[in-house]
Amino acid sequence: MKLPKVREADGTRTAAWCDRCGEEIYEGTDFYRVNGETVCEDCLCDYARELLAPYRQKA
Ligand SMILES: [Zn+2]
Repeated sequence: MKLPKVREADGTRTAAWCDRCGEEIYEGTDFYRVNGETVCEDCLCDYARELLAPYRQKA
């Protein structure tokens, strides 16, 4: 994870960066820390699908 708390020109602050897409995660928004990785909301679905792939069943 990169250095936290970078202030943007518009006053928003970056609290973290997503380890999957590299996008900024702004202060006050939700994100996930899973197995040491920082994951933003946009990447959560794909990340969960990959993480749970060993448990996938076919009907
Ligand atoms: Zn992301």
